[in-house]
Amino acid sequence: MSTQDPNRVIGQTTVEMGHNFNTESQIRSNADIYNAGTRSQQQIHEEYNSGKNIATVERLIAEGRARDIEDEPKHKGEPVFIIGSGPSLDDSIKHLRNWKGGIICSPSHARTLLYHGAEPTHIMALDPFESWSELEGVDWSKTKTKLVTHPGVWPDLLENWPNEVLLYRQNIGRADSFYATTQRNMYSKREGDRNKSVFNFMIRTEMVVFASSPPLQLFVADRLGYGMTFLAGCDWAYHSGKDRFTEYTVKKPAQIVQTGNSPAVKIPIEWERHEHPFTPPDKPVAGQDLITTDNKLFTSPVLIYYKKNMISAWRLFARTIYTTDHGSVTEMPYMSIERAVATQGRKAKERSKEWVIKTSERYLARIGAWVVENEDAGKNFIETDDPEVDLNRWMVNMSRQYQCERCGSIGVAEDPNNHDGEACPVCKEGKIKQRHRIDIGKNMTRIRQLMKWVEKNGGSIAVPKMAQEKSGDAQTQFTPSVPQVEPIPAGD
Ligand SMILES: [Zn+2]
Repeated sequence: MSTQDPNRVIGQTTVEMGHNFNTESQIRSNADIYNAGTRSQQQIHEEYNSGKNIATVERLIAEGRARDIEDEPKHKGEPVFIIGSGPSLDDSIKHLRNWKGGIICSPSHARTLLYHGAEPTHIMALDPFESWSELEGVDWSKTKTKLVTHPGVWPDLLENWPNEVLLYRQNIGRADSFYATTQRNMYSKREGDRNKSVFNFMIRTEMVVFASSPPLQLFVADRLGYGMTFLAGCDWAYHSGKDRFTEYTVKKPAQIVQTGNSPAVKIPIEWERHEHPFTPPDKPVAGQDLITTDNKLFTSPVLIYYKKNMISAWRLFARTIYTTDHGSVTEMPYMSIERAVATQGRKAKERSKEWVIKTSERYLARIGAWVVENEDAGKNFIETDDPEVDLNRWMVNMSRQYQCERCGSIGVAEDPNNHDGEACPVCKEGKIKQRHRIDIGKNMTRIRQLMKWVEKNGGSIAVPKMAQEKSGDAQTQFTPSVPQVEPIPAGD
């Protein structure tokens, strides 16, 4: 495996050693390596695109076509579908034409939805490589679809999009990120003069981003005031003989042909169908990182990494989500697509917040991911195979950090006593204040209960010796700042 491989297989039976496939709970993914790899490849594009997009965004805002997503009127609890790329979408998509609530998709689903007569309410573009080529060929100006995106996307997307645009900036859990600093400043209006200037930020809203799109679609739905949430195509597994949904692209756009004196002839769009078949192998194939899910479907480590992202997002969301899919998600309540659409989502019962938290945390515990709660409701996701040792150490370190209210210096106390209000050792004038209040005992009690549950209920947190040597300190995977907790830098 290359260093950029997001996944580290630590199952006891590996593909090389035996003829069993690894399972969902034997897979650990190394989020930090993955994020670092993706970020370094993408950020230069996002910086370049952000520079190129300023004039377009300024024009769209001036025209009243673009605004901060927070300034968009709310949808008052209407139900919403989050669209993913899995094989189940092929079944669901035919029904969505009768859905009256929200449909939030990615650019890759947009034209296929239209082909099936379902108009997305929102297309959410996250990746900097999302470009106009993924949407062109249909007349979007005839739809009410809105684009939800950030200033780092490919410039021709914003230049050509004919409808409204809702804007956000990406929050990657670091207060010193490009998005939180430079990009924010680039997208501002400066008033005043050289002696006294005021910067009004055009894009105030930050959205917590994960490695894949559905978590962000979920947070966008929440921001827009949607209510009960349904998933379609969020499988994170191969099934029904496919590895993803059947896509439709435009071979030739619709045309109006004028021939001599005869009436104009309207020629409809010529569509091109793209199938993505998957044939399950009898035994492991060299070079193919196939694993099996808890419900015995084939999948890849990357897809299970994306599923983990979504379950983590669900933990943050802490509200009911229904799946209409036949993929790897068995943790969420299921409703058939027929019933969901026929009842316009009204028959979906809310589960309690406690149930969502318990269910999502049990899944995460099985794959070695843990949630540490701050007293101010901030949450940290930490991956470790030894929570007893690593989480305790991590929380001790965090809770001993102090910051000077005057000069901003940050330091770590050497003892567990409370140092709030003491004089700053750097500037000598300010007072220091604890940065993160974490109830270590309360967190460890919950985490030990989860460990016990995992021991009893399948999945294993026992790590083979070889892997234990490889695993380093607990890593902060992402430290979402919802609601308002100062992001903690990852792993440094
Ligand atoms: Zn100070």
